[in-house]
Amino acid sequence: MTASLATSTTCAKNSDQTANLQALVQQIRDWAQELGFADLGITSADTGEHAQRLQHWLEQGYHGTMDYMANHGDKRYTPASLVPGTARVISVRMDYLTLPDNPEQALRNRENAYISRYTLGRDYHKLMRKRLAQLAKRIDSALEGHQHRAFVDSAPVLERALAQRAGLGWIGKNNMVIHPKAGSFFFLGEIYTSAPLPIDAPFTTDHCGSCSACLQLCPTNAFVDAHMLDARRCISYLTIELKESIPEELRPLMGNRVFGCDDCQLVCPWNKFSKHSEEDDFKPRHGLDNTSLAALMMWSEEQFLQRTEGSAIRRTGYHGWLRNLAVGLGNAPTTIPVLEALRARQDYPSEMVREHVEWALAQHGLAL
Ligand code: SF4
Repeated sequence: MTASLATSTTCAKNSDQTANLQALVQQIRDWAQELGFADLGITSADTGEHAQRLQHWLEQGYHGTMDYMANHGDKRYTPASLVPGTARVISVRMDYLTLPDNPEQALRNRENAYISRYTLGRDYHKLMRKRLAQLAKRIDSALEGHQHRAFVDSAPVLERALAQRAGLGWIGKNNMVIHPKAGSFFFLGEIYTSAPLPIDAPFTTDHCGSCSACLQLCPTNAFVDAHMLDARRCISYLTIELKESIPEELRPLMGNRVFGCDDCQLVCPWNKFSKHSEEDDFKPRHGLDNTSLAALMMWSEEQFLQRTEGSAIRRTGYHGWLRNLAVGLGNAPTTIPVLEALRARQDYPSEMVREHVEWALAQHGLAL
């Protein structure tokens, strides 16, 4: 074979392979849609400048007690360090808001608990993981020797950075990935794959512009700057991640938010384009979208465990749940049910719970 013939044969093989991978990507997009994913993008196994931002955030100590954010070395921002052989990252999005819902009204009703919208239904990890596994299995069947690992918030993965690089949206000043046609109320998941799939263009346009509504509205002033959240002040951190006492100066600012907080998303003008999900798993369970703080405070541990089975709320634990509710009740209007619920927990065995209950009673002028 002459040199030029050998070159043209190699070129033909390469272009065949490229065409095959491009066809596969189209197939992957179709499968993803069938499995309920609203969008899918592919990026290289690289998180670019996001690695440095993470480092800066950690150096400032803004991660609080979330030591896991600082562990794992470069695995969080170098996909091939976490899963050797990773050539690409497939990033997917699944919308989670369900209808009917009126989160703003839920926030205004200070006698009721406000629970972050993503956690009103069943724990999304299970559903997303199952769907991602199905997607990966289909890719396996189309690609001999395909190696993959799928993640849904289950490993050190810089998922928002990867989503932005895969073209799923820009990272807003509130640190959420936002798509101009779908807002930010969605879950992300990833498949780390060995397949050298063609990559999508990153989402490079920042549509925040001069808006800074999320930074200004944050109830606890947790944003040090655009894209820079001091998690130690963030209500999601305080009600979910923190296992200890909530700093007293932040309690009055938390209002009725007892598990997570959506304020920086609710105020975002792009969320008027949010999509709704038909997934049964994401629909509110046990009336958690519309229940009084007092009624939730009266749940026994058994009831808590039973009613939060398969729910992300379990993460806070029963004592954390009572602690958060005590703060909500301290911020609620002074009514008989509010005071009765607090008094019912005044002698609770956990010192942390008792201390929060005492604080709450003091807010109603009932110091011990
Ligand atoms: S509220 Fe404004 S600044 Fe914040 S993420 Fe939305 S568009 Fe960006």
